[in-house]
Amino acid sequence: MHLPQQVIIREVGPRDGLQLEKEFIPTVRKLGLIRRLVEAGIRFIEVTSFVNPRLVPQMADAEQVMQGLAAGSGITYSALILNERGMKRAIEAGVREIQAVISASEEHNQKNTGMSIADSLSQIEKTTVLGQENGVTVRAAIAVAFGCPFSGMVREEQVFSLVGKLVEIGIRSVTLADTVGVANPRQVYDMMQKLKEKYPAVEWCLHLHDTRGMGLANVLAGLQTGVVMYEASIGGLGGCPVITDAPGNIATEDLVYMLEEMGIDTGINLRELIRAVRFAEEMVGRRVGSRLSSLG
Ligand code: ZN
Repeated sequence: MHLPQQVIIREVGPRDGLQLEKEFIPTVRKLGLIRRLVEAGIRFIEVTSFVNPRLVPQMADAEQVMQGLAAGSGITYSALILNERGMKRAIEAGVREIQAVISASEEHNQKNTGMSIADSLSQIEKTTVLGQENGVTVRAAIAVAFGCPFSGMVREEQVFSLVGKLVEIGIRSVTLADTVGVANPRQVYDMMQKLKEKYPAVEWCLHLHDTRGMGLANVLAGLQTGVVMYEASIGGLGGCPVITDAPGNIATEDLVYMLEEMGIDTGINLRELIRAVRFAEEMVGRRVGSRLSSLG
């Protein structure tokens, strides 16, 4: 099987993993988790989001999180935004890399951002200009790229046209997110093959969920198309945004285990990573559901 030799894992636990936690987690604890992730060898971490604190109270301390980060060379601390307003806050807080989000379906985009896709695109365009002016990298993530809980099937053409518009705006890195975990390996393989062929200059990343048990199989499909960047969350934190109690994000430790066992270098120390899992469990006050963490 022809597979990449090296994979970059973007850890999204501190943001995606924690954003739905009901109890507010003190900033110092979040920083503690981020520090352990760095110690485990993770080099790309989505640490927070600059969104409306009334809608996502867990991320209300975005500025404080950014302020408390230890500067490390070769480590990218990323933050998520939905609009120009968030971008301005992020720049003010010293963020160097931004993940802007847009959905492949109108219904999901409306629910997630309160805007139409067209309005989100114009916000991302303004964000990109601000990024260029301030030396901040702007990536974009397409939510529900493989299926939407509100509008059902998402046609490939919808994703293609959205990617085309993002590229036109000046985006160079695109993440496709299976927000509700409905993707299957053949779908991931076919979609990524076509996208890579159509947009060879784009740096692709996959954000896969394990809601229906297909998370790692979908990673393998992505690997077979040559995608070398994957998002995952420590302990699989961050459940499914739609189905209560269903698994959401793939667990970073399960992903690292699979890749390393397959001889694919992640640069991440699994033993240290498990320490971060234990810390995360203490933080949220419960055991997490990843396969590896339950082995002890
Ligand atoms: Zn997710």
